[in-house]
Amino acid sequence: MEEILKDLPEKAKDKHKENKKFFAKLRKKPPKHLDSQMQELHEEEFERTNCLNCANCCKTTGPLFTNKDVERISKHFRLKPSVFIDTYLRVDEDNDYVLQQVPCTFLGADNYCSIYDVRPKACREYPHTDRKDFHKITNITLKNTAICPAAYNIVEEMKRRIKL
Ligand code: SF4
Ligand code: SF4
Repeated sequence: MEEILKDLPEKAKDKHKENKKFFAKLRKKPPKHLDSQMQELHEEEFERTNCLNCANCCKTTGPLFTNKDVERISKHFRLKPSVFIDTYLRVDEDNDYVLQQVPCTFLGADNYCSIYDVRPKACREYPHTDRKDFHKITNITLKNTAICPAAYNIVEEMKRRIKL
């Protein structure tokens, strides 16, 4: 996995133009069964990919924390939300709560998430490749192909299967 992660930004850069073109077409005319096709591609990829061997998302890019996330996780730690925020979060340029630092504080050396059951919604949904109306988040996916090997593979397989 280390080797794969090392090469991923370069591989994603090589495919950037091609992917951008493909996504532009996808946004213009999304296939009728895109949601179910994405579900299938996502499930197939995650049968092969074990996130515990990777954790690159947790190491390199933190999630956004919604107010609900903050409430749930603070409760888990028995902290006041304001104390949790002061200890772990900061406000970014888009006015969202994000981690003060990456790798994420809650990531263990064994790649397990210490707050897995109460983790932020964005962590649960990453890399968003099984999301409804996938064609609406292609800009995020374009970025994620350089971070997440599964997202990279899913996009490659999409181009093979979905003829636009
Ligand atoms: S979601 Fe992607 S980047 Fe995150 S651990 Fe799984 S394969 Fe790695
Ligand atoms: S909260 Fe858990 S899943 Fe989310 S980035 Fe941190 S370690 Fe990863």
